[in-house]
Amino acid sequence: MTPTGPIVVLGSANMDLVTRQPRLPAPGETIAGTGFATGAGGKGLNQAVAARRAGAEVTFAGAVGDDGFGRELRAFLEAEGIATAHLRTSAQPTGIAQVSVLADGENGIVIVAGANGEDELTDGDRAAIAGASALVVQLERPLALVERALSAARAAGVRTVLTPAPVDGAAARLLPLVDVLVPNEPEALGLSGAADVEGAARHLSERVGTVIVTRGPRGALVAREGGILATVEAVAVDAVDTTGAGDTFVGVLVARLVEGAVLDDAVRAATAAAAIAVTRPGAAPAMPYRAEIEAALA
Ligand code: ADP
Repeated sequence: MTPTGPIVVLGSANMDLVTRQPRLPAPGETIAGTGFATGAGGKGLNQAVAARRAGAEVTFAGAVGDDGFGRELRAFLEAEGIATAHLRTSAQPTGIAQVSVLADGENGIVIVAGANGEDELTDGDRAAIAGASALVVQLERPLALVERALSAARAAGVRTVLTPAPVDGAAARLLPLVDVLVPNEPEALGLSGAADVEGAARHLSERVGTVIVTRGPRGALVAREGGILATVEAVAVDAVDTTGAGDTFVGVLVARLVEGAVLDDAVRAATAAAAIAVTRPGAAPAMPYRAEIEAALA
């Protein structure tokens, strides 16, 4: 039977504060920037948006501050059609990512976790997870919280999906609780300790159900039970901004899986969607809607 509950994404929500500037200031120096914008971000929020736009019912379980950024992020999620009943208001300030984009296209980022550091999993959160079609997590919330959420899903027989980012060796202990692991290349290498990406995929797939290593413009590798199952080509596009490519991939992958798609088809849809996202600026704003994904697959 295909599960009917929403996808629960438990993860981070940040306000991205993006400055354009010629270079990074030296200590004690003030320099003039050339542009500024704010935008909704955080890996959890991004993956929730990708899954929602792909057509899934999505509940976002996160935490924001009792401040203007928190109210903006809540309104943003609601405008996307994402349920916020499990988005808590914390005494900590809303998480931020301060992104400095330099003239040569390089960037430097400072993240302040703030409310994303909340580590409580309430009975209500557990009930939402137990009724979900899938639980999707990343590592921008406390590891102990992610572990409790994965355990709650596993106890209820709910499919679990982990993006191990930012990479953290301690996250290896989560692997037995994971059905689908979606690292990018550096994350796969960091988590497995393997010297090459195929070795990493094979090694990790001995500990989780399915591993999908995303490889940017080189596509993805799918592994199961210690063996490589498939290599998937990326769609050739002129990328303008690859921020959020992996989050698009995961959100769309899960949206397709909970509809009952077989893994191959879900990976194909995720690959097509991520290729669309990289041709547009921004992370969440660049994510395609279901009709666009269908058109790309036709
Ligand atoms: P992350 O954003 O987590 O680092 P990747 O860079 O591996 O993840 O990208 C995730 C997926 O997005 C890739 O598997 C691929 O399908 C797609 N993708 C990323 N960059 C490109 C690109 N330049 N051209 C086409 N597809 C891309």
